[in-house]
Amino acid sequence: MPEAPAAPSRASTQAVLTIDLGALVANWRKLADLAAPAACAAVVKADAYGVGLEPAIRALAKAGCSTFFVAQASEGARARAALGAASPHRIHVLNGLLPGDDILAAHAEHRLTPVLCDLDQARAWAAFSRARGEPAPAALQIDTGMNRLGVGLAQLDDALAVEGLAIDLVMSHMVSSEDAGDAHNARQIAAFRAARDRCPGVAASLANSSAIFLPARPCFDLARPGYALYGGNPTPGQPNPMRAVVRLEARIIQLRAIGVGETVGYNGQWTARRPTRLATIGVGYADGLPRALMATDTRPGGEAMVRGVRCPFAGRVSMDLTVIDVTDAPADLAPGDMVELMGEAITVDEIGARAGTIGYEVLTALGRRYFRRYVGG
Ligand SMILES: *Cc1c(COP(=O)(O)O)cnc(C)c1O
Repeated sequence: MPEAPAAPSRASTQAVLTIDLGALVANWRKLADLAAPAACAAVVKADAYGVGLEPAIRALAKAGCSTFFVAQASEGARARAALGAASPHRIHVLNGLLPGDDILAAHAEHRLTPVLCDLDQARAWAAFSRARGEPAPAALQIDTGMNRLGVGLAQLDDALAVEGLAIDLVMSHMVSSEDAGDAHNARQIAAFRAARDRCPGVAASLANSSAIFLPARPCFDLARPGYALYGGNPTPGQPNPMRAVVRLEARIIQLRAIGVGETVGYNGQWTARRPTRLATIGVGYADGLPRALMATDTRPGGEAMVRGVRCPFAGRVSMDLTVIDVTDAPADLAPGDMVELMGEAITVDEIGARAGTIGYEVLTALGRRYFRRYVGG
């Protein structure tokens, strides 16, 4: 096996990513309170939305979370290893069960519960369970309008009738739960309720982060938040009820002063309109800082907090470097000082909006070069 690269040390990096596990746990508790009497799981796919699967899942398990969702079996194996081989926690694999004996064996080895999404998967899992001589639990994904994964409502009875299948959770996923006014919401909730009523005695799960905040609170038996755990705003357009989990700070490498008319960065896309002081930091798009945060003469880009002052990016985000206009920041800035790119003030949602994407993408793109510091665990 190739050796995993050593994690960057603090001294060897120019940027620090601080993950507040206390805030993560507080967010989970808040969501669990809102979802009650339904139980509350945690979605930890994609390396726990970029914050790090192992520390996140251990903190959540310690806080009492007993059910986790990952996207792929490889993530499930990591999740099981982090929790301990004998851990009682349920780990669901959202993306379903691809064909292949090795995949079935991986589920058995790490005690992963597949979220089956078609009849062939249901039959394969039932046959595998029979061959092993023990009923293996499974979840079933029902498609209520996403048209992405899951059995249609018309196939539900056939899936439930597969011999030897031990479905103990049915679930579906919301199309537009972050928009409380979207007509999909009521349609999907009604369709899921009708489907659930056809599966007596089986637990049901529909709500992602935002759906927990819908007036109808369609949490059924188990809520499945992801984004809100990591500090993303599940109620866009309204104040964020969640605590920030991720803070990204970078050191200033160099400061310089330029005159009116000088440009900054590749292709000279940004021109100084005043005598300008610039700070160059060692974070770029290779670290997941969206290149779309570039600032040009016609369009503002990202911003950074520099000693409490919001300062705009200047020019293009390069692979490893970004330049910030720190003219309005305190005059005694020096190389080595930290600027904050993401945190309480500049939220992951704001960065997503400025980059023309969503905070989910910003989080899951967080780079591997940062020194990662876990606090509050
Ligand atoms: C990612 C995902 C979730 C979590 O969604 P958030 O919006 O991050 O809370 C829940 N269910 C399914 C099926 C998912 O794919």
